[in-house]
Amino acid sequence: MTAKGSCAEGRDAEVGGSGRQGCRVITPKVIAFPSVLPTDLPRRGAGVLPGPAAPATHTPMAKLYFHYSTMNAGKSTLLLQAAHNYHEMGMETYLLTADFDDRAGVGQIGSRIGLAREADIYGPSADLFAMIEARLARGAVACVMVDEAQWLSKSQVWQLARAVDDLRVPVMCYGLRVDFRGELFPGSATLLALADEMREVRTICHCGKKATMVIRKGPDGKALVDGDQVQVGGNETYVSLCRKHFREATGDRT
Ligand SMILES: [Zn+2]
Repeated sequence: MTAKGSCAEGRDAEVGGSGRQGCRVITPKVIAFPSVLPTDLPRRGAGVLPGPAAPATHTPMAKLYFHYSTMNAGKSTLLLQAAHNYHEMGMETYLLTADFDDRAGVGQIGSRIGLAREADIYGPSADLFAMIEARLARGAVACVMVDEAQWLSKSQVWQLARAVDDLRVPVMCYGLRVDFRGELFPGSATLLALADEMREVRTICHCGKKATMVIRKGPDGKALVDGDQVQVGGNETYVSLCRKHFREATGDRT
């Protein structure tokens, strides 16, 4: 084991670089960053560059993202925060959320900490490519955000992938990975297959380990092991657990 020496002023210790042996008190250096910060980027209407400014929306690096987790991890909160960040920078977003009765119209994405924002609704038969294309025709958006993405059909995920590839707009999907039976949702399965980038939104089980599973509790408080994947408006409660406690709660059936 390499002795690191004793430094009373830890914040002055040089770590790495040439100072591998022990600690040296060093003079802080002022590092000159190259001028590539946003202030140097072309601004619309600022007359910095000749000709029309490049649109700040349709990026050639557009990707399909899948942010997944179990229940109550804060996915909608993250979505709304990300949308807020775009808006703070003066960019528009297009928000979509699921509705099971297939109405077209305006819904709302809400979060447990009180944030909420209007969103268009997609039903099981909606053509999401067409919806995104129509939205882009009304004005540029920097990002499409899809909540409740576990309810997407397989073909709807392909529609989102086409929007990324052909309309060159980033699409961020937020959804559950598995249902209360421990099985992938169809939308999530297709997103796991097609997404360019996947990010796990983490939450914890009562034991402190990462929760990756969810149980659906019936009226008697016991975990249900069968039933429809889609059950809206029931009186059951969902609890997120680690796999070990999911197995215990469901009787280790497999
Ligand atoms: Zn646990």
